[in-house]
Amino acid sequence: MAYATTNPFTNEQIKVFPNSTDAEIDTALDKAHAAFLSWRETSFAERAKVMQNAADILRRDMDAYSKLLTLEMGKVFGEAKAETELSAAIFEYYAKNAEKLLVPEALPVADAAEGRAQIIHQPLGILLAIEPWNFPFYQVARIIAPQLSAGNTIVLKHASNVPQCAAAMDKLMVEAGLPDGAFRNLFPSHAQVSRIIADHRVRGVALTGSEGAGAKVASEAGQGLKKCTMELGGADAFIVLEDADLEKTVKWAVFGRHWNAGQVCVSSKRMIVVDSIYDEFLSRYREGVAKLKMGDPMDPSTTLAPLSSQGAVDSLREQVEGAVKAGAKSEEIPLDMPNAGAFFRPVILTEVDQANPAMREEFFGPVSMLFRAKDEDEAVRIANDSPYGLGGSVFTKDEARGERVAKRIETGMVFVNHPTMVKADLPFGGVLRSGYGRELVGLGIKEFVNHKLIDVV
Ligand code: NAP
Repeated sequence: MAYATTNPFTNEQIKVFPNSTDAEIDTALDKAHAAFLSWRETSFAERAKVMQNAADILRRDMDAYSKLLTLEMGKVFGEAKAETELSAAIFEYYAKNAEKLLVPEALPVADAAEGRAQIIHQPLGILLAIEPWNFPFYQVARIIAPQLSAGNTIVLKHASNVPQCAAAMDKLMVEAGLPDGAFRNLFPSHAQVSRIIADHRVRGVALTGSEGAGAKVASEAGQGLKKCTMELGGADAFIVLEDADLEKTVKWAVFGRHWNAGQVCVSSKRMIVVDSIYDEFLSRYREGVAKLKMGDPMDPSTTLAPLSSQGAVDSLREQVEGAVKAGAKSEEIPLDMPNAGAFFRPVILTEVDQANPAMREEFFGPVSMLFRAKDEDEAVRIANDSPYGLGGSVFTKDEARGERVAKRIETGMVFVNHPTMVKADLPFGGVLRSGYGRELVGLGIKEFVNHKLIDVV
């Protein structure tokens, strides 16, 4: 395994980065621990200044940061800029709110004469963040903004195909004024990751990635009795009820499945449409997907980017073949496609029955599955027939009905009349095989703190 930048638009390898040495990792942990001992003593105002600086720098150098995203994982430049802005918004959110979110909580006590009890929230120490390539800045901001604001320090193991984005986050935090060692990117092998988790000074692990990586890292954290959060895969249901505004719904369906070239844990991967409008929906959806334009992600007219790597294209193709072998009907949308690069033409899968392995898989690219449901109840049943429980959506003109259906979906997030959304001021996370724990807002900042009881009797 090597850390390298390969441009998915050309498949050309641009730069290789050597793995960190054991000595470099030890030094990073020594420094992260030393930094923790002083960083935890800083005021919220001091930390907020660093977070706000990080937000300001990202916005000031928006184009340079965003170009790195497009270079290393291929997303269209407009989406890269949106990701950089979202990351800035997360830093700013915690600059403004961390102190309020961690304010000590007085406990109501039965008998005041027996004392005053309160909960205070103290940082734990060094955390290890393991992050994926699909949103190279946002995923990192989502963990470091809250956790640095809480007073923890962090070492980062980013995905091996986005080393320059990882290094850029390192540089960003130094420029923002974070003390030396409080946040450090490393290029460790998987074996070295195990060593980091086992280090007694590392007090928690936050992983965003696949189920396989999650299971392995969670078991290692468990061995060390360390808290971890797991943000894993998803297969979001996109339920369309008979009273949905079809024009808007189809627009959101095309977007929900194809933004970031379909490589989003909360992409709208399973469209579940009630029988009475299924045919109309399918025909309009097909037309909508056919309007996408593949091409250079730096070209503003491109709406469907390459996948992150040729390897991703090959494994997605195999998955589609597996679904077809098991009885699904596959329709490729014949978009013009550049000759080079990690491109994948959109595919619509229908007639996926319960025994099809596709029912239990995550398709990380522009592959849509459409299901016909007899009615609302059957739509809910299909939505919940998944090992995943991340996000989901319900489309209906009747908001109260949308909320009612949302309550019946077994996931961590449900949106009415919108694909699952990521925002600085909304929590993120799932249940079932999509993992556990939450990132962002108050839930996120409280994942890695000691909720300490102080009872003055
Ligand atoms: P991945 O292979 O699991 O990689 C994610 C991170 O884990 C990378 O940094 C990777 O490093 C590391 N990793 C993988 N195996 C490891 C091991 N055995 N020991 C230590 N580290 C290990 O996931 P991916 O394919 O890049 O990302 C896509 C997945 O992430 C999808 O399933 C997607 O749904 C999920 N995701 C979830 C969320 C969420 O918030 N729920 C958000 C985005 C993505 P290397 O690159 O060095 O292998």
